[in-house]
Amino acid sequence: MNSADTSIETSLSLVRQRIRKAEREALREPHDVTLIAVSKTRPAADLARAYATGQRQFGENYVNELSDKVAALQDLDIEWHFIGALQSNKSRAVAEQAHWLHTLDRAKLAQRLHDQRPSEMAPLHVCIQINLDAQPSKAGLAPDDLDGIAALARSIADLSRLRLRGLMAIPAPQTNTAAQGTSLRRLKALQHTLLPEFPSLDTLSMGMSDDLEAAVLEGSTMVRIGSAIFGRRAPKT
Ligand SMILES: *Cc1c(COP(=O)(O)O)cnc(C)c1O
Repeated sequence: MNSADTSIETSLSLVRQRIRKAEREALREPHDVTLIAVSKTRPAADLARAYATGQRQFGENYVNELSDKVAALQDLDIEWHFIGALQSNKSRAVAEQAHWLHTLDRAKLAQRLHDQRPSEMAPLHVCIQINLDAQPSKAGLAPDDLDGIAALARSIADLSRLRLRGLMAIPAPQTNTAAQGTSLRRLKALQHTLLPEFPSLDTLSMGMSDDLEAAVLEGSTMVRIGSAIFGRRAPKT
């Protein structure tokens, strides 16, 4: 884990090593897994430092922060991932600024994002959020609500300005890798169930600082890592 005096450069390098090691142990190809550096609450200067080491994918949770950092770092070739809860009245900033949205959970929001996505931009890549462990504090569809998930996937697939890419989950915190795996495994199973009808579902967005290894073992293709790169966050006030 990162401590205050560990540099972003060192921490990033350690996280990349953790991913490569987990890929090897899972018998997966090197660089199968994309690292999203989760930079919420961090100043733009921290992102620029990570960028200088080659990091290109950044994840943001709050719309205002996304807009500020997109403006501050507009000369850099960053791929922006919005991974926070998105209120409908703030969807425009994501439609206009993000490359990916990981937390889509309702058809109305999908329609809004489609309507607001500028036509000169590539389609917005989206993942459907699944509430794997039925946590009341988390958004997302229930993993056993197959009809609801398929219906949302269908409405996304019908929207030309969106591209349905995958499933995303934030599992309940667990300390041991086996327990983490049991939960994460269900996202991969869900992907398998949906793939025949939705072959574009090639992405599993799962894995954070504390369950990265379990996530890679269970088939994650995008890990979202914050504190192991940038250090512990101050509680949001
Ligand atoms: C903050 C956050 C992360 C990163 O969590 P860490 O434990 O700091 O790695 C990943 N995903 C989501 C959705 C987050 O909000």
